[in-house]
Amino acid sequence: MKRMLSVVIPVFNEEGSIKTLIKNINTNIQKIKTSELIDDYEIIFVDDGSGDSSQNIIKEAIDTDVHIKLITFRTNFGKSKALEAGFRYAKGDIVITMDADLQDDPKEIRRFIEKIDEGYDLVSGWKENRLDPLEKRLPSKLFNWVTSKLSGIKIHDFNCGYKAYKKEVVKSIAVYGEFHRYIPVLAKRNGFRVTEISVTHHKRQHGASKFGCERYLRGLYDAISSWFLLKYYEKPMYFFGKIGLILLSVGGLVCSYLTCLWFLGYPIGTRPLLTLGVMLILIGAQFISMGLIANILVDQDKRRANDTLYIKEIYERK
Ligand code: UDP
Ligand code: MG
Repeated sequence: MKRMLSVVIPVFNEEGSIKTLIKNINTNIQKIKTSELIDDYEIIFVDDGSGDSSQNIIKEAIDTDVHIKLITFRTNFGKSKALEAGFRYAKGDIVITMDADLQDDPKEIRRFIEKIDEGYDLVSGWKENRLDPLEKRLPSKLFNWVTSKLSGIKIHDFNCGYKAYKKEVVKSIAVYGEFHRYIPVLAKRNGFRVTEISVTHHKRQHGASKFGCERYLRGLYDAISSWFLLKYYEKPMYFFGKIGLILLSVGGLVCSYLTCLWFLGYPIGTRPLLTLGVMLILIGAQFISMGLIANILVDQDKRRANDTLYIKEIYERK
């Protein structure tokens, strides 16, 4: 059986790294090809609206290397959309994603493929010896711990850009917004087998990280969102509706009780209980409306995930 590998690489202003990256990937994949783990491969760069010469460097490489392909965006849409575009376009039976900044070492590609061949659908990289500053590692640790606890997926590094997938996984998930951090969660939700391998990690040599210290707060948001997404993404109404109905019922009971009193001739206009009852009803109704709106948003999001309008051009040597 002929087997093809696609390497998908999101790029946002990485001009200093690309040439070396291509050379390293090619060297490593050639070695893998001789051991017959794969028969053919493609390297798909997705240029996420870079303002530097990244795009030109990749186009030059395409002139001499038939394996390289480039998808360009009109502007910076973010890493998730870059991955999504690559996933839609990839032809491989196995897809590997990797950052463009030389922090992920292409020599690990072989181990990723071997792990997939053990029967896993998604193999996530774990930067066990992570060479990033502490202010990046700490919030990441917290995010990973919480996400792992809430999702029940026992991996250490959800956000690692270095991952391998079977084709079915990338074709069945939609990555957008900040979803690139939850790909293992998305995959597990679709019933795929997820595991991890520890990978070598290098310091960033060129350019700067594209994600700053807003990581601290984002880590917290991400933890809450990943729990919510895993449990309620399909039907947010089940979450909001439940709270809404409880509040509405308690409010209804309180107001019914007061109405009875009123009919019996007791004054109720100044009772704090009246304010509470009315508030509970109003807030309950709000929660239910929120659930409805959330349902509409999920529906629209799913449709939008299928369009590839943000792609400007696709370069490929015929
Ligand atoms: N990236 C991207 N779009 C963005 C931000 C980042 O395509 O808006 C790419 C970036 O070029 C790199 C990868 O995503 O290849 C990871 O980014 P970075 O190294 O800045 O993240 P970190 O390693 O700091 O988590
Ligand atoms: Mg990096």
